[in-house]
This record gives sequence, structure tokens and C-alpha cells, in this order.
Amino acid sequence: MNQQLIEQIVGEVLGQLGKNPTQLPERAVPIAVSARHVHLQPEHVEVLFGAGYELTQRSELSQPGQFAANETVMIAGPKSSIERVRILGPVRKATQVEVSFTDAMKLGVKPPLRESGNIEGSAPITLIGPKGSVHIEQGLIIAQSHIHMGTQDAQRFGVQDGEYVTVEADGIRPISFRNVRIRVNERYRLEMHIDTDEANAGFITQGTIGRLIKPNEATEPVACSLPVSTTVNAPSPAKTVAPKSYEFTKKLLSTEDLAAISEDEIIVPKGTIVTALAKDTARELGKTITVRK
Ligand SMILES: [Zn+2]
Repeated sequence: MNQQLIEQIVGEVLGQLGKNPTQLPERAVPIAVSARHVHLQPEHVEVLFGAGYELTQRSELSQPGQFAANETVMIAGPKSSIERVRILGPVRKATQVEVSFTDAMKLGVKPPLRESGNIEGSAPITLIGPKGSVHIEQGLIIAQSHIHMGTQDAQRFGVQDGEYVTVEADGIRPISFRNVRIRVNERYRLEMHIDTDEANAGFITQGTIGRLIKPNEATEPVACSLPVSTTVNAPSPAKTVAPKSYEFTKKLLSTEDLAAISEDEIIVPKGTIVTALAKDTARELGKTITVRK
């Protein structure tokens, strides 16, 4: 999708949200998906595209001064190669290639998970342009997810540069990202950057809105809501109050059925099949399944 269109969609979504402040998700962070890309150092532009060559701008990126170039290169690993990998400008001090884990497996390379710019000791890769090729001994990484934000947003969220937060995205496949690094710069626009694998895992498209959570504010996952110590030190309410029972009549008891039953004891007819997952879920929920004699 072209960057202008993405910007437009993000703008429209945010605009819609802005119209009705009561619907603005608390701690909303727009998410942008970064496809595989290359940052080049000036000498490498010349090796790949010819002496004196300079990158040309195709479209602006959301962060000020950054752009997607018209130029692309092929990247090659020991197993295979990927064509038409977009170059992002302007040129940088050191060439850096950012791929997804899926790309890495296809290429047959093992890049580390790194913050952009931290390439010391990262993986090697070969870049092939129309006029030549470059092999770099380091510079291939899988980018650590991060959030760009200005100083005002940082204040509003109560976070600092370099801090790690969690971002939750509610979609048809809800997902939460942990260890998301905050990057504060007065020139940055509020936006979270994830790679295509992360986006695909959560069915996330450009402009999906995430929710920023500071780790100390995170709610305990449901499965951990019953610490062992509580059940040891105090009688559980289920034992002091006579549990109500539910008469189950179907042939198969699944987790979906369990979810719909509020009683603590479920009485099933002899011969009813209880799925293994339902047994586990019942245990987690503190429910007992009794077979009627
Ligand atoms: Zn970024």
C-alpha cells in the first residue's frame, strides 16, 4: 500500500475517533507495519547504483525527514534471495537491513532481534543492485518493536525514552506486544512500528489502534488469577458456600459448554464425553464434573 494512502487512512481513523471523544480508546497508539527494508550508507549507494548516484524520493514516511526511495535492491542469503527490497532514505552511517523472521528462514540467515541502529555483531547479508553488489559482515537484524513519540505524548503516557511497555491490540485475533521500546524525540509522531510477522500474528493492518500499558499497570492474566498461596492460606469461597450444581444433558461436554455454565458442579450423564481441554478448563475454573450414577 502506498504511504500516502496509509497516512490518509490513519488520519481518517483518528479523525473519526476524535469526533466522539468518549469513543477514543484510552492510551491509543496507531500501529504501522514495517515491511522488510534497507538503509544504506553513502558508499554502498554508489557501489549498488553507480558512482555519484543519489537516492530519489518515492514517498514520505510518517516520521519527519524519512522517505521510501524509488530504488530497491535484492538481498541474498545462503538459501535464497528476496527481490525488490525497498530502500529507505536518507542515507545513514552504516548499512542496515531489516527483515522478518519468516524472511530470515527463507534466506537461510539468523539475524538477532535488535533496536534499529544497534547492529554491532549482527548477521551478514549480501545486497545486489543494478550496478554492483555489497556483502556486509554485520547489519542484518529483525527490528525490535518500538513506539515513536514526541515529548508531550511521553508526558501524557508517563513514559520515558528507552523504557519498555506493553501494547494490546484488540482485533478478531487479540494480541499483546511486550518489550515494546519507547523512543522519544520532539520531532517524532506518535506511532508504533512492528514488522510483518508481528502484524500477521494479530491480523493487524496499517492504522490499527493499540493500547499502551505500562508493565506495572498490566492486569494479571486470567490463568494466574488464583495464586496457590490463596487456596492454601484461606478456604476458597466454593467450599464455604454450598455449590450449586448444573444438570448437563448433552453427549459431549466442551469448553464452550463450560463457559456457559455458571454453577461450580456439573453433573453429566454416564457415557458423556468430556474433552481433555474441558477437563483442564474445569480444573482452572475450580469446577467439578461429576458423573451421574
Ligand atoms: Zn520506527
